[in-house]
Amino acid sequence: MSETNPYQAGRHFLQIPGPSNVPDRILRAMAQPTIDHRGPQFAELTLGILEKLSRVFNSSSPIFIYPASGTGGWESALLNTLSPGDKVLAFETGHFATLWKNVADKLKLEVEWVEGDWRSGIDTAVVSERLSADKKHQIKAVMAVHTETSSGATTNIAAIRAAIDATNHPALFMVDAVSSLACSEFQHDDWGVDVTISASQKGLMLPPGLCFNAVSAKALEYAKTSEFGHSYWSWTAMLELNKRGYFPYTPATNLLYGLDEALTMLHSEGMNQVIKRHARLAHATRTAVEGWGLENLCLNADEYSNSTTAVLMPEGHDADKLRNIILERFNMSLGMGLGKVKGKVFRIGHIGDFNDLMMAGTLSGVEMGLNLTNVPYNKGGVNDALEYLAKP
Ligand SMILES: *Cc1c(COP(=O)(O)O)cnc(C)c1O
Repeated sequence: MSETNPYQAGRHFLQIPGPSNVPDRILRAMAQPTIDHRGPQFAELTLGILEKLSRVFNSSSPIFIYPASGTGGWESALLNTLSPGDKVLAFETGHFATLWKNVADKLKLEVEWVEGDWRSGIDTAVVSERLSADKKHQIKAVMAVHTETSSGATTNIAAIRAAIDATNHPALFMVDAVSSLACSEFQHDDWGVDVTISASQKGLMLPPGLCFNAVSAKALEYAKTSEFGHSYWSWTAMLELNKRGYFPYTPATNLLYGLDEALTMLHSEGMNQVIKRHARLAHATRTAVEGWGLENLCLNADEYSNSTTAVLMPEGHDADKLRNIILERFNMSLGMGLGKVKGKVFRIGHIGDFNDLMMAGTLSGVEMGLNLTNVPYNKGGVNDALEYLAKP
């Protein structure tokens, strides 16, 4: 903060789909003295976190926490289970699926890449087709992004699992739940996911800096024969030390304080309620978008995301110009269009610590921005959303 960059009164509206708003309670929890990571108090902290975390992933198997962004979680999932040259099946649902594929490419995995239009989730029929064609079981893993944050499309993970099972294919099932965890229903065990990857800065309401691997017994078996050289990411050392509440290296103590508080908050609201709240605010957003007469990038209603809505700009109008004006005039950040849809869409994040009035303020900011930039739209989208939110 400086005098040339003066203080702006009131709260900044951080309406990007991650990092999400960090509640004051979590900020305060992190502002505690760092403690001995080999002491007894630390073990208690870790064991408490792991128990509460298992009820967010719905996983009875181990969940490893690393000081890293989500990208580290992708790399760790691949490194621990596969070997150089292994084949993996991946789907171009959007920007994040493409980034994960790039990680696989750099690790010299052979990626069977199913191209997509960035407007829908993974097509289960294609999963069946590709796995059935792989008679020799050369595909070692199926990589799926649950909520593709660049498009706002959520893939039906249970349906993908069913498609894998129907072909009797032994491939591991890896799912990126970075922007869906604690926003949409997620069932690590029941959906037969082998590695779930997530991160701290979305539904978990924390600053960036932690990533997660929830790991099935089958994935741990695969890890025994992995031929990738790796050390920092090794699940083996984590597994042993985590059992007693410790880590193989100095963990991110203060982020763990925050995580502990975030998990307490989520469970006290109730996971079902957390997910219902996200679904409701996502619906309010789509109601406004429809009222404005603008198009949702996600094509299929049954794939609409609880975390983010990507809105297509009318032909000839620049989404980044709209975002910049909204930032300058109303101190609100909206998500930019990523990769192939840069400038064509803006994204409204409705993720994490978020309520009706924050949603109303966000949508109002968007409608005022549309007005200021002369984008053709119908007035009243906000009103439609408010009516939806005010229903008894
Ligand atoms: C945010 C996000 C990531 C995380 O990426 P990092 O920037 O490395 O934390 C990964 N996948 C999806 C779907 C995301 O939304």
